[in-house]
Amino acid sequence: MDFALSDADRTFKAELEEFLDAELPPFIAEWERDDAANFGDDNPSRGLMGAMKKRAAWQRKLNEGRWAAILWPEIHGGRAATVSQNVIYTETMARYRTPGIYNANGIVQIGPSIYSWGTDDQKARWLPCILDATEHWCQAFSEPEAGSDLANLRTTAVLSDDATHYVVNGQKVWISSAQIAKWGLCLFRTDPTAITRGKKHEGITTFVIDMHTEGIDIRPTREITGDSMFCEVSFTDVKIPVGDRLGDEGMGWMVSMGALGQERVGSSAQAISMAQELKAVLETAKSLNPAALDDPIIRDRVARLHTQIEFTRLLIARALSKVLNGEKGWPEVPLAKLQWGYISLSLAELALDVLGPVGALTKGAPGAIDGGIWARNYVWQRYTTIGAGPTEVQKNIIADRALKLER
Ligand SMILES: Cc1cc2nc3c(=O)[nH]c(=O)nc-3n(C[C@H](O)[C@H](O)[C@H](O)COP(=O)(O)OP(=O)(O)OC[C@H]3O[C@@H](n4cnc5c(N)ncnc54)[C@H](O)[C@@H]3O)c2cc1C
Repeated sequence: MDFALSDADRTFKAELEEFLDAELPPFIAEWERDDAANFGDDNPSRGLMGAMKKRAAWQRKLNEGRWAAILWPEIHGGRAATVSQNVIYTETMARYRTPGIYNANGIVQIGPSIYSWGTDDQKARWLPCILDATEHWCQAFSEPEAGSDLANLRTTAVLSDDATHYVVNGQKVWISSAQIAKWGLCLFRTDPTAITRGKKHEGITTFVIDMHTEGIDIRPTREITGDSMFCEVSFTDVKIPVGDRLGDEGMGWMVSMGALGQERVGSSAQAISMAQELKAVLETAKSLNPAALDDPIIRDRVARLHTQIEFTRLLIARALSKVLNGEKGWPEVPLAKLQWGYISLSLAELALDVLGPVGALTKGAPGAIDGGIWARNYVWQRYTTIGAGPTEVQKNIIADRALKLER
């Protein structure tokens, strides 16, 4: 593996660092001033909406420097970055601990689907508002009977007799931030016979839908964390213009696989973020509950986690080396996803064990530390074994295709 940076990569990295050195500290300072001025959990400047307002501001700042969507083609406001530049980008952003952005789904997954499959009119209509954070986007794929088995989706889109629009009926679940979205990238079934014919990957079509259209009902779901990030979305006789179909009828599986494939890009930053989190847990424990760090069992867990994080970093480096040599990052990418799920959960559990009872206090409770983040993480991190491919399904794929185990 040779990870020496080329001249172009060194320039790219230096430009990004210069941008972050200049823009990030004043942005964070203003964010903290705003937080202090709007104290109280029921203040509208806080919670999901407050966080999203700040994310939008940060995304706009990034976009001013053309750092919001580096993988997008230059003609659409990106930098057409290479694989190694994308790694430099995600690692640098993790190292600087930059805030999240407003349209993460839009930039990583939806935008690439639009510029790969959309007409010129669709690109002109939708790409700018993803990039400059003027409108929020969600991705509505999962359904009650279609999660891991996404091709089993049943929400139908039926073409009207005059072929001017489709009529949509059905239900989606777990749709992140649908309650604040103006637009959604959706998968619907345009050929319901495909399931009975035993060809469920066929007959699926991608649409962009205005989430404010009559007949769409969006109900936020309260999660174990107490927040409501996901929504159930139901469609009753919802009309979508034919011009809002992305790609041809029946091409939905190909379009969506492109979008979901993007979800796995940029995992190189995970090892850095996990190492930072382990360091933060230990620093907090040193000041709050130092005796815990003398416990031999805790010390053993810390050593194991440190080793696993380093192992994951090397696993991702090997995947990257393969990709740079024109091969697939297989099976390292799904293995790294498994590692990420396991380590994130173990880190969250370690934090509660070493911080003692104060670590379990939630946001707003008297004496809660770091805004209750450790207690929140303990329940929230369960998602890492589900999101971007559940653990059991990833294991099946590795057993089947990499280890070639008998069924
Ligand atoms: C943080 C987060 C954000 C999300 N955001 C979105 C979003 O914005 N838009 C969207 O469309 N969806 C979203 N999802 C939904 C996500 O895509 C699904 O949760 C995921 O595909 C799993 O589907 P499911 O929840 O229906 O679980 P299921 O597929 O029902 O799985 C339930 C359990 O059964 C196991 N299982 C399933 N099949 C097998 C098998 N063949 N062999 C062995 N075990 C199996 C799974 O591993 C899991 O443990 C989000 C999920 C999370 C956690």
